[in-house]
Amino acid sequence: MTTDILIIGAGITGTALAREISRYDVSCVVIDRACDVAEGATKANSGIVHAGYDAVPGTLKAKYNVAGAAEYPGLCRELGVPYRRCGALVIGFDEADEASLRNLLERGIRNGVEGLRILDHDAVLKMEPNLNPEVRSALYIPTSAIVSPYEMAFALADDAALNGVAFRFNQPVRSVERTNGGYWKICTDTDQYECRAVVNCAGASGAEIHNMISDIPVEMIHRRGQYYLLDRAEHQPFAMTVFQCPSRMGKGVLVSPTVHGNLLLGPTAEDIDDPLDTATTAEGLADILQKAGRTWPGISTRTNITNFSGIRAHLTTDDFMVGPVSGCENAYEAIGIESPGLSSAPAIAGDLCRMIAGEMKWNRKADDRIRPVPVREKAFSSMTAEERAGMVRKDPLYGNIICRCETVTEAEIRQAVRRPVGARTIDGVKRRTRAGMGRCQGGFCLPRVAAIIAEETGCSLAEVTKDGGNSRILAEPLDAFLKGGGDRE
Ligand SMILES: Cc1cc2nc3c(=O)[nH]c(=O)nc-3n(C[C@H](O)[C@H](O)[C@H](O)COP(=O)(O)OP(=O)(O)OC[C@H]3O[C@@H](n4cnc5c(N)ncnc54)[C@H](O)[C@@H]3O)c2cc1C
Repeated sequence: MTTDILIIGAGITGTALAREISRYDVSCVVIDRACDVAEGATKANSGIVHAGYDAVPGTLKAKYNVAGAAEYPGLCRELGVPYRRCGALVIGFDEADEASLRNLLERGIRNGVEGLRILDHDAVLKMEPNLNPEVRSALYIPTSAIVSPYEMAFALADDAALNGVAFRFNQPVRSVERTNGGYWKICTDTDQYECRAVVNCAGASGAEIHNMISDIPVEMIHRRGQYYLLDRAEHQPFAMTVFQCPSRMGKGVLVSPTVHGNLLLGPTAEDIDDPLDTATTAEGLADILQKAGRTWPGISTRTNITNFSGIRAHLTTDDFMVGPVSGCENAYEAIGIESPGLSSAPAIAGDLCRMIAGEMKWNRKADDRIRPVPVREKAFSSMTAEERAGMVRKDPLYGNIICRCETVTEAEIRQAVRRPVGARTIDGVKRRTRAGMGRCQGGFCLPRVAAIIAEETGCSLAEVTKDGGNSRILAEPLDAFLKGGGDRE
């Protein structure tokens, strides 16, 4: 397959870049090792759109964080992605913490973050009464926000696909080479691509791909972060994201609401050898409880519904690398995109696209050739009774509730499969619709979701996976039995 430009990686960075590139008159292909968009760090992070108080002034992290965070409200409105400016606190317990908070305040002001201020003990507890009463002071960040990170990536991918970008999954890159004709040749397990320009947005494999392209190697440390996710509740104990003072390893353990009304506790910070090792461990989870317990003395995991982990892609140079790959014509990269990479993605993508378009002399499409993403109906679960009745009258499939925990309808699940970059797995449906995200974690709805995916895509039930690869739900004979085509064993 030949294309003008190929992006390796369909996380938040790759999808945001693909959307920007789709505004130009060029062909673009995004390939990913995984079976769907957002299968790397983008699906497993804190979901905070950081205001930009933490990054060291003058770094790319500071520049892109502040610029990216400013783009989020408009972008989320345009793409129909849940986003909420809930504010954040960084809390301190002693004099050393207070010095650290003053340092963060100064950094934030230098980075151009607005509204920051230090609160004393009484003011902090007034804002968040469930905090540890031993809290001494806090940095208040009113512009900190929360977003659904994977829904953002799905929406960016849909927009890019509607505007001509092709997405190809199950494509692990094995080699990247320059051809004699001045193209880049990218080989995966099954396919070969030739492109004029290549962009490395491969997250935790960013260094590995960089070292395939360049003779000047980079080194990456993979730092795992584990989480607890507590069930939705009408009244969560915290309205804001609450951080403790950051350390050399990251922003520390937070307690934060999510845009869907859950409560998130974590992440840990452990350096690991295998960039794909997203296991959770007893030690890691115990560490979260101990640290989050300092923020929230009344901590309870009685409503815990799942644990997960994500991998930070930390370059030893301690900053993002964004731009041309030094000494390699028409090769670009956005690597080392650890936190605040989610917050920074729109700004990284815009900047990188402008660089590439300028160097490659691309023409921008006229505005009337850009197809806006169709406005999606709001989730059935958040509609009023009247709105629900109206939807059922329009499409009776809205009357069939598939996921009872999260009130997700058959109509919504079918739409998730039919989106421009549609769900093909149980987890793909889950992240697009929330079917299976609730207390029973798919115990009831999973078989029905699997049947809808099979019907919509024309595959057999036995081919439906939880999350790609060999994560099949059914064994062959049972599938044949369910379809009425075989004997039960
Ligand atoms: C624990 C944790 C908490 C975080 N919290 C926040 C936060 O609150 N706010 C914030 O702003 N940022 C946060 N971040 C950072 C943020 O999640 C990342 O910066 C962002 O998701 C990186 O996106 P990406 O697209 O660059 O990488 P990824 O999302 O990792 O995407 C890379 C893609 O490349 C694909 N890929 C990898 N290797 C290959 C290969 N060989 N061939 C083909 N495809 C390949 C992967 O499958 C993946 O889909 C956090 C990160 C972690 C781990």
